Amino acid sequence: MAAEKNLVYRCIECSKESRELYRDYKHGVLKITICKSCQKPVDKYIEYDPVIILINAMLCKAQAYRHVLFNTSINIHGKLCIFCLLCEAYTRWLQLPGSSNITDPEDIIRYAKEWDFYRLFGIAALEQTAYLTGVFIVLCLARPKSLHSYSDFALLLKALLLSNYGKLLLIPAVIWEHDYTNLCLRLITLFVLTSNMQAIRVTLNVSRRLSFLAILCGLLFEAALFYIHHEQ
Ligand SMILES: [Zn+2]
Repeated sequence: MAAEKNLVYRCIECSKESRELYRDYKHGVLKITICKSCQKPVDKYIEYDPVIILINAMLCKAQAYRHVLFNTSINIHGKLCIFCLLCEAYTRWLQLPGSSNITDPEDIIRYAKEWDFYRLFGIAALEQTAYLTGVFIVLCLARPKSLHSYSDFALLLKALLLSNYGKLLLIPAVIWEHDYTNLCLRLITLFVLTSNMQAIRVTLNVSRRLSFLAILCGLLFEAALFYIHHEQ
């Protein structure tokens, strides 16, 4: 994994800062740095296969989240966000009546349905913005010291967007339609919210209760936008 000398890393066990993840003793001898605070390896995951790290992240392990957020230079949150919104829009679009039986490319209904897709993408983006606004408001009020610079906001936003990766499962859940599709969609939502909670906890080192409250406020903002949209 990326390890530039001048960057500050974090111990994945206790979240204390560390200047390095490993030391190079030359002649091919590398030694993982031990954390001065908890006496455990600063980041054991630098030796792990990415698949193992992904499985640990899916199990919502705080250590895996810290590894990805603090000790790697993964920078795909923007693209992932767009892709997750596309997945959400596509899922909603497929659930519209008559979306799946459009065959004639000249059919004017096809263009109307395409417009529906863009409209649903816009709504999904607005709902995501409302959700994030709710989360940020609670955290800014409860922990103003943790969120006082642009980089703090950027890191939290990155953590939240990355932890939305579970939304990618929406596509297979809808395409392989069966009796339990609705249950699958609910479970995916629950998984994404749990991942979001863990991302907040790890980024700001806050309690489960506060991160739960932030998620709840985010959902309230999202629901408020939904009702405003449907009232019109
Ligand atoms: Zn430590």
